[in-house]
Amino acid sequence: MAQSASHYLTHYDIAVHRVMAVRGKNEILGQTPNVCRFCSRTVPAVTFCKEAHAVPELAGNGTLISLYECDECNARFAKFEDDLGKMTLLERSAGQVLGKRGVPSVTTGQKSRIDMGTSGFLIQEHEGDPIAAIDQDKKTLTVTIAPQAYRPLGAYKALVKIALTLMAEGDLAKVPEAVQWLRENDLATSQVTDCTGYSCVRGWTPGPLPIAQTTVMLLRRKPSFQAGPAYVMLLAFGNMSFQIVIPAPQEDAIIVGKPITIWPIPVFAFLEADRARGPTRFWLRSLASPAPEKGAPSIVFNFESIVEVPPGASAA
Ligand SMILES: [Zn+2]
Repeated sequence: MAQSASHYLTHYDIAVHRVMAVRGKNEILGQTPNVCRFCSRTVPAVTFCKEAHAVPELAGNGTLISLYECDECNARFAKFEDDLGKMTLLERSAGQVLGKRGVPSVTTGQKSRIDMGTSGFLIQEHEGDPIAAIDQDKKTLTVTIAPQAYRPLGAYKALVKIALTLMAEGDLAKVPEAVQWLRENDLATSQVTDCTGYSCVRGWTPGPLPIAQTTVMLLRRKPSFQAGPAYVMLLAFGNMSFQIVIPAPQEDAIIVGKPITIWPIPVFAFLEADRARGPTRFWLRSLASPAPEKGAPSIVFNFESIVEVPPGASAA
């Protein structure tokens, strides 16, 4: 990890570093009169009535709002965010990330459900509709859900949208192809390569909300470096992190055909030290597929103890 940190410190500048909260005082990006940064339109051609979150609420952002996203673009992005939401549903629930209505609930589609109580997971398991399997000997709890289908490339577009929302105008001007792709409702029209096959460096840190504050970091390649992508973004929240390359075909013409090493951006700087229960695990995941697929149906936890709550009693 030291080598990875050194790579970014040597070859990249921090273009964006934003930290946001689930709730609190709003921070407003942009100014009025509103101009949409994605379609360049203004009132009355478009409206700006909806509150546009710079980072999706499902990623733990309730406070960072942008004025430069029109309602039409906002509605289009909601479909990509839906892909991101479904891709992360099991992990978010597992990680106790606070979402739009508090904590996301996981259901099997029938009666059983898992919610986050004040002292731990509240598992309501109905006969014939199993959701959690407890192994007292191994001290594991396996949560199983009916995963929902999502488009990996749609989730990728949702991540690109975050970067394009937060980057400065000067950087935005360098990625017009990515802006154009975001203007399209589907995934194939105006699709632009990121030079890595839409590789996403995933990260997971065990523990109760070790990344307590949603963080976005955008790194910009230094002019002296010519062996890596121009823009790399990291989104970290809850237990999770997502690192992607932003499509920048003009800037990245210099790396086409060259082998590229994808280094994980270390996330330890964003962790609450007393909440991390182990080392961060990184893995590579391709988000290239435009076809809907379903994620893992289950996740396994190790536990220290279980308290049985009688039906009807409070979870607290
Ligand atoms: Zn717009």
